Amino acid sequence: MRGIEWRLDRGGKADKKQREVVEEIVIELEAVSRRYGAFTAVDAVSFTVPRGQILGLLGHNGAGKTTILKMLTGYLEPSLGTVRVAGLDMVAERLSAQAKIGYLPENCPLYPEMVVIDYLSHIASLRAVPIAAQAKLIRRALERVGLIEKATAPIATLSKGLRQRVGIAQAILQDPEILVLDEPTSGLDPEQIHEIRALIRTLSKQATVILSTHILQEVQAMCERVVIMMHGKVAADAEIAELRRSNRIILTVRTADTAAVDRLRRLDGVTSVSEQPAVSVALGERQFRIEVSAANAPGVSPALARAVVESGWELIALHPEYRDLDAIFRELSEAKRGQA
Ligand code: ATP
Repeated sequence: MRGIEWRLDRGGKADKKQREVVEEIVIELEAVSRRYGAFTAVDAVSFTVPRGQILGLLGHNGAGKTTILKMLTGYLEPSLGTVRVAGLDMVAERLSAQAKIGYLPENCPLYPEMVVIDYLSHIASLRAVPIAAQAKLIRRALERVGLIEKATAPIATLSKGLRQRVGIAQAILQDPEILVLDEPTSGLDPEQIHEIRALIRTLSKQATVILSTHILQEVQAMCERVVIMMHGKVAADAEIAELRRSNRIILTVRTADTAAVDRLRRLDGVTSVSEQPAVSVALGERQFRIEVSAANAPGVSPALARAVVESGWELIALHPEYRDLDAIFRELSEAKRGQA
């Protein structure tokens, strides 16, 4: 898994071993491609999702996200490659695999003239849930999405945010172990977005979640890991924190030492040091931006802390510099354009 390899590059071998032992893979795409006629919408995509993770599938409109989610939920067959869900092959064992998944399609079709419980009962019947079992499932789903009070309301009278909750209720009706959500907050106002995100976070305590979005903040707000899609291909696959971590460290100290930059530059693993202009830091403080080589990265922060103490400087802060996801996305887009 690329997210883990990323850690390995930074010297996290023990970490990788540990995680491989505890992680149970519940979603697996292996070299999956999908063509529409001569056009390849999804091109040799591979990634896995361990149990309990919230994975964001991020990309511009047309990047191939919906096509991937349709293949993942068995509504579209791959032209090439394999999709496995909870250990089941999505083509050969489709019905059993689909039973593990709750799916909220983009623009989930609802029947506006129906009342909420009738709609959910209709969906349950389509899925062959016995009538006797339906009431309990519907009540539980409505409770989980916070819609009990609207149970007998016609869908047409609900706000967009509440309608999206109805869509989510049908997805979780049978308590699936995997939730697939296609653009779950699309078209909602900021307050509704906030509420739906909170709901998804709550639901993720009981299910592995994969959601698609073209909104960077959505991924940053909700997901532990992101797969970035560009023109049908995976452009990046990493944990958000790893992706955002750069090979730079920010050190803030109080000192009048005129040789500070030289001292820092001499440390093992440090490739360059620049001092931030005084106007951009608090009065009396000095801030250094320290580039480190990837190979020596894990040892540099402790060495910096020792150097600060040994030099008699006052330590204010020492932390990795985090890149913003927006900048990463732009970098990847530019690199992709350069390859084209
Ligand atoms: P969006 O958020 O706009 O839905 P997406 O990332 O989900 O974007 P897809 O819907 O998977 O992207 O579409 C990927 C590409 O495949 C697009 O160029 C789209 O026009 C094309 N495409 C999707 N469905 C079909 C189809 N049924 N026939 C032909 N081309 C299609």
